[in-house]
Amino acid sequence: MQAMLAAFFVLLFGLGAQAEPLRVEGLRVVGDASRARVVIDVSHSPDLRWFLVRAPHRLVLEFNDVEYRHEDEPVKPRGLVTGIAFGPAGDSKSRLVLTGEGAFVVENLEILKNEDEPGHRVVIDIVAGSDRQFEAALAEQIATTAGTDASAKPAERRFTVVVDPGHGGADSGAKGVSGIYEKTITLAFGLELKKALEDTGRYEVHLTRDRDRFLRLDERVKIARRHEADLFISVHADAIRHRNVRGATVYTVSDSPSDAASAAKAVRENLADQIAGYASEGAGDEVSDILTDLVRRETDGFSLRFAKALVGQLSDEIGMIKNPHRFAGFQVLKAPDVPSVLVELGYLSNVRDEEQLRDVKWRAQASAGIVAAVGLFADAKMGQAD
Ligand SMILES: [Zn+2]
Repeated sequence: MQAMLAAFFVLLFGLGAQAEPLRVEGLRVVGDASRARVVIDVSHSPDLRWFLVRAPHRLVLEFNDVEYRHEDEPVKPRGLVTGIAFGPAGDSKSRLVLTGEGAFVVENLEILKNEDEPGHRVVIDIVAGSDRQFEAALAEQIATTAGTDASAKPAERRFTVVVDPGHGGADSGAKGVSGIYEKTITLAFGLELKKALEDTGRYEVHLTRDRDRFLRLDERVKIARRHEADLFISVHADAIRHRNVRGATVYTVSDSPSDAASAAKAVRENLADQIAGYASEGAGDEVSDILTDLVRRETDGFSLRFAKALVGQLSDEIGMIKNPHRFAGFQVLKAPDVPSVLVELGYLSNVRDEEQLRDVKWRAQASAGIVAAVGLFADAKMGQAD
């Protein structure tokens, strides 16, 4: 991939000596959050080069001598492509800037001659990738262009945590005794936990969602994998019929649940996609081949280790239920290579738990417990890597 990138990068397409300026006659984007294809219709084979820029992650295509004809019909970004902008860049150059939803990899970029009509098209395929892949492509690009941007060194990799505020959008989650929704509590807590983790200066932290939006369970898992997370923490707040039950629970994934209540809990959480009208795709079947199984086993070990640290640290800060570490088959914990836990902060069906969940101070205590546990886990994991 990197070699291909370099090859493309130094290559100048077309003859570059056209008498007529290039006309951009159309621009289309298709795809979803994991993959996108951008097609640009042009009057003839263009003289173009392309490069990557970070913060935010962008792909820039620079055309020579363009007459842009497409501006009367702005193209809507979609999926992986969250922004499209076209503008002059001096010296009769124009740039098309595609902004990605997070890091991506340019899988393919080619210029094709139309078969049954005049003109050419530029076809670009990008797929969601990790920050490390993007940085590697960027580093190669900088090397290729002999240090035009020497300051842009690849960032040092830090211990990465993905925090997943449960539910969102059409899926409200459980409803509290005062009427507040689980999705509201989990988002507030997720934002606070992200900040508390970042304040230590030790971690790179990403949220699966930072606003009230729906995300499928597999999308949450994908986000964790895209960031090559060292740890994935899904945050929830439960509600059950027995209104006197209270306290926090830490769950890890298992095909054999620790008890009937945990099994029922996993079934409820896994329904999130259906509530919002999405069928859950291949429930857990992705864990099939032996290699995945081996990785899975190691990951499960790490998940257990973190769950233990988490129960220990949370017990110092907030109330926990009896046997606070439980197991069940949660879809959202099934990334084969990312240690994952699901934390139920408390019961929205209990008056006092609900009051605490709405209390910023109580939430800060719970955050502190999680931050302490992440610290222990990160120390152990980094220590082992040495
Ligand atoms: Zn939930």
